[in-house]
Amino acid sequence: MTSSHYAPDTLAPARSWTASALCRSIADPDAFFPTGNGATVQQQTNDAKQLCASCPIRMTCATTAIRENYQYGIWGGLDERQRRSLARVPKADLPAAIRTAWKRRTYDHHFDAYASRTVQIDDGHVMWTVKNTSVTVLGRNWTPRQLALWVGQGREPHGPVKTHCSRPDCVAAEHVGDAVVRMLRARQIKEVAA
Ligand code: SF4
Ligand SMILES: [Zn+2]
Repeated sequence: MTSSHYAPDTLAPARSWTASALCRSIADPDAFFPTGNGATVQQQTNDAKQLCASCPIRMTCATTAIRENYQYGIWGGLDERQRRSLARVPKADLPAAIRTAWKRRTYDHHFDAYASRTVQIDDGHVMWTVKNTSVTVLGRNWTPRQLALWVGQGREPHGPVKTHCSRPDCVAAEHVGDAVVRMLRARQIKEVAA
C-alpha cells in the first residue's frame, strides 16, 4: 500500500492541514474505505461522504486527493470514480467542479463520461477531446451535447441539443441547450425587450 491508501490521520506530518481533519476523531478509519458490494458499499460510501460534509477542510482534502491521485477511499467527500473524473479539470476550475460533484453525492455515469472526455478552454468553452462523437452510457448512445445538457440540467434532452455560444464546437454544459432551454431563452429575451 502507498501512503495514499491511508486515512488522513495516518499521513506524514508534512500534511499540516490534517490537524483539523474531522476523520481524526472517528474511531474507525475504515469508515472512509468502504468495502463489499451493492447496497452495503453504497451505504458506507454515503455515510463517509456525510461525515466529510461537516469537515472544515473538505475542499483542501478533495483538492489534494485529486492532485496527488489518491487511489482508494473517500477523500474530501468524493469517491474514487468521482476523483478520477475530476483529475483532468484545470486547476483554476477545480473548486467549482468539486462543488458540483459534492452536490451529486453519488457517482454519476453521465458526468463521468462527460468529464473524462472534455477539457475546458478560455472563456468557459469546453472541447470534446476524443475522436468518438458518441458514447454509450448505461446502455444508450449519447452525443457530446446531449451529455453536456445532462450535466448542466440533470435531465434527458427534449429535441436536438445545439451549441449557442460563439464556438460551434463547444460542449460546455452552460453553452448548449435543447428545445426547453431555447424556449426559456426566447421567453427571457421577450420579457427583457417588453
Ligand atoms: S474531508 Fe473527509 S477525508 Fe478529508 S479530512 Fe475531512 S473528514 Fe477526513
Ligand atoms: Zn462555449
